[in-house]
This record gives sequence, C-alpha cells and structure tokens, in this order.
Amino acid sequence: MVHSRNYYELRTMNYTLKIGWLYPELMSTYGDRGNIIVLQKRCEWRGIDVTIAPIDFSTSNNELRTINFIFGGGAQDRQQGILIDDLQKNKGPVMKEMIDNGTPGLFVCGSPQLLGHYFINGAGEKLEGLGIFDMVSKYPGKDEPRCIGNLVASLNFQFSIFNFRKNTVVGFENHGGRTYLGKGVKPFARVIAGNGNNGEDQTEGAVYKNCIATYSHGPFLPKNPHVADWLIRKALEVKYKKAIPLEPLDDTLEWQAHESILKRFKIY
Ligand code: GLN
Repeated sequence: MVHSRNYYELRTMNYTLKIGWLYPELMSTYGDRGNIIVLQKRCEWRGIDVTIAPIDFSTSNNELRTINFIFGGGAQDRQQGILIDDLQKNKGPVMKEMIDNGTPGLFVCGSPQLLGHYFINGAGEKLEGLGIFDMVSKYPGKDEPRCIGNLVASLNFQFSIFNFRKNTVVGFENHGGRTYLGKGVKPFARVIAGNGNNGEDQTEGAVYKNCIATYSHGPFLPKNPHVADWLIRKALEVKYKKAIPLEPLDDTLEWQAHESILKRFKIY
C-alpha cells in the first residue's frame, strides 16, 4: 500500500459510503455477499467508512434516498416473482431517479433482468421491469440450454481510461434468460469466452450512467478489482461532487485469480 502525503490527507477526510443491497434474503443466490464484502473492504482499507443497508419490503423512499451505491444480486425466477411488485410499485420510481442522477450500482444476473423493460420468465410469464436499463430479457425456446460456465469478456472502451492492469472481466454465468440491449445502454463488455447476454451478439452486460449490469455471478468483484474500484470511485465522486483518488492496494492475489481464468482459455 502506498502512503503518500496525498493519500494520508485523504484518510483524514473521513469519507463514508452507504451501500444498499436489494432484497438480500431473496436476491443472493450465488454468494452475492462476496461483492458487498469486496466493496466494503476495499473502502475500509483506504479509511473510507462503509455501512450496509438492506433495500427490502420495509424500506421507505426516504431511507432509499440516503443510499450512495445500490447492489442487486442474482435470483431465480421464483424469487423474482415474489419481489417484483414491491420493486415496481414502491422502489422503482425513486431508484430510477437516483440512477438517472448518477447513483452507481452493480446488478448481477437476476436483478438486471428486472431493471430492463420486461422479463419473460421460464414459465412464459411477463414481469414488467423498472425500465432503467434500455433492454429486455426473455427465455428462449424450451430446447435451448441454460447458459452455464466461465465467462471472459473484454471491457467496453470507456473503462480503459483508468489504466487497468487488464482490460478483461472474468466471471461465472448461470442463466436461462437472454438479454437484448437497446440503444439507450452500452454493452459492459464484449464476450471472448462464454455466452454473456444472449450467446448471439457477443455483448456482455450493460452500462447505463454509473451502473453496471452483468451476467457474471456471485463473487464477481473479488476477481475483478478494477471494476470494484471504478464503482467505488463513482460512488465517492457522486456523493462528494469531486473526483477522489483511490489509494492503490496490493491486488496480487486478485489478479492471480483473474489471470488463472484467462490462462484456462489461453488468453494473455
Ligand atoms: N432467473 C434468471 C434466469 O435463470 C436469473 C438467474 C440468475 O440470477 N442466475 O435467467
């Protein structure tokens, strides 16, 4: 860890962030807590204090507005069906307003399916989404397999300004639904190995304002520290209305994990 005077001064500023976790009891199918832990630890190691609050059935709009970063994990069709009404009617409008105003977020698999225009689940039921991301999700024909396996993709150019060690993201996908992007979002990354959004157009995930949607599951951020820091930087920037440089961390193990997947696919 580098302790220059610059970073020392940052530590004295007592920056804080509040992370909201969408329906943690219903949308946490695949170790999604790993993403929250990474965000929390990477902040704490830099002297940024983090609180974590659930965004669930009992959360009021006023409480929702105090949140600086929104996380949504994976969920199977059944759990998505349980919470969609509350999300749509009670949280949706405020979330849309917050995200349009720059609040960053990370949404994994089952949650971005609900943040698009609609999601047609495996039983053929249509769930109206929040319409935050310009995209739709639906299951393909019954004979089509689920998209399961390691996923490697190269990041959309807009992230490269941060001079990352690698321009790739690695993860594990497991979804039946396929997502198709509209013109109002950009793909998060371009598929190198795996299926990504739909197995057809090589897009993986989506970016809207400061929010990322991805089909990479569960503990996605531990293997992708560059994405974690991009999100933290955005959250601080929006809350404090200025760019706050992040103290570098020793990410040797994180990059070893990332590169072990690249090596498996002979991508260097
Ligand atoms: N229910 C969705 C699907 O299978 C999402 C699953 C998930 O979050 N992995 O398409």
